[in-house]
Amino acid sequence: QADIAMYYAKDKGRDNAQFFTSEMANVVTKKFGIDKEINDALASNQFALVYQPKVGRDGQDILGLEALIRWHHPDKGFISPAEFIPIAEESSLIVKIDEWVIDNALKQMSQWRTQDLEIVPIAVNLSGRHLVSDSLVPYVADRLAKYQIPGSMLEFEITEGVLLQDIQRCVEVLTELKALNIKISIDDFGTGYSSLSYLKRLPLDTLKIDQSFVEECDTHTEDAKICETIIHLAHNLELMIVAEGVETASQADTLASLGCEIFQGYYFYKPMSADAIPSLFSQRLVLS
Ligand code: C2E
Ligand code: MG
Ligand code: MG
Ligand code: MG
Repeated sequence: QADIAMYYAKDKGRDNAQFFTSEMANVVTKKFGIDKEINDALASNQFALVYQPKVGRDGQDILGLEALIRWHHPDKGFISPAEFIPIAEESSLIVKIDEWVIDNALKQMSQWRTQDLEIVPIAVNLSGRHLVSDSLVPYVADRLAKYQIPGSMLEFEITEGVLLQDIQRCVEVLTELKALNIKISIDDFGTGYSSLSYLKRLPLDTLKIDQSFVEECDTHTEDAKICETIIHLAHNLELMIVAEGVETASQADTLASLGCEIFQGYYFYKPMSADAIPSLFSQRLVLS
C-alpha cells in the first residue's frame, strides 16, 4: 500500500499533500493491472507490427516504412497504442516494448531482404526514456549485426518533448546512433513546447509535420502558413520534411505546393500488415 501511494504521489509533486482516496486507489490498480497485462502480452505474442509507407510527391515511390505497434488483447480486443504507450512510458516497460519493436522490425526486414525485395528504410518510434538509457545503442548495434542490416536502413522517430529533458544526453546518444548510420526524425514536429535551439545542436535528418497542422492546411490560411514555415525551416537546416496524416488529395496538393517532398497518410496508404508489403514493391516495379 505504501509503495502504491508513493507511486501515485510521484506524479503529483512532493509539495502537494495527498490523501490516498479510493478513487486514487482505482487509478493505481488500473495502472498496475495494465503493467501486468503488457508483460503478459510480450510473453505471449499479443503484439504485432503494421507498416505505413512514406511516399514521394507523385504517390508512387515508396521511400520508407514506419513500423507501428498493434495490440490484440485476447479478451479486450484491439487496444490502441495511443492508450497503452503513454502508460508503458511511465515505467521501464516501454524499453521492453521498444526493444520488441526494434527486434521484430529488423527481423522482418531481414526476411524481406532474403526475398530479394528492394526494401526501403524502416522507421521505429522510440520513447524518450529509452533514448537516454545506456542500453539503447548496444542493443541496436547487436540487432543490426544479428540480422545483418546496415544502420542506414533504420530510422528512429522521437518527439520534441523528449529532447528538452536532457539535451546533453540526447546529443551524446544521437551522435552514437549517427555513427551507426541510423537516421533520426523528429515526430509530431510543432506540437512540443520546444525552443528551436535544439535543432542546431542535434544530428537530425528529418522533421515530420504533425497531423494537426496538415488537417486544415488546405482550408485555413494559418495552418498553411505554419506548414510553409516548418518546411522552410527544415530546408534551411538541410533537413528532410515529411507530412503526417495526409488524408485528401487537396491536402497533398497544398503541401506539395508549399515544398513538401515526402507524404504519409491514409490518402496514400494506411498502416498495413507485413504480408501486404512485398506486393507493394513488386507492383511498383511493374509500373515503372
Ligand atoms: P505517430 O508515430 O505520430 O504515428 C502516427 C499515427 O497516426 C499512427 O497511429 C497512424 O496509424 C496514424 N495515421 C497515419 N496516417 C493517418 C491519417 O491519414 N489520418 C489519421 N487520422 N491518422 C493517421 P497509431 O498507430 O495509433 O499510433 C499512435 C502513436 O502511438 C504514434 O504516433 C506513436 O507516438 C505511438 N506508437 C505507435 N507505435 C509505437 C511503437 O512501436 N513504439 C512507440 N514507442 N510508440 C509507438
Ligand atoms: Mg511516428
Ligand atoms: Mg506523428
Ligand atoms: Mg503521434
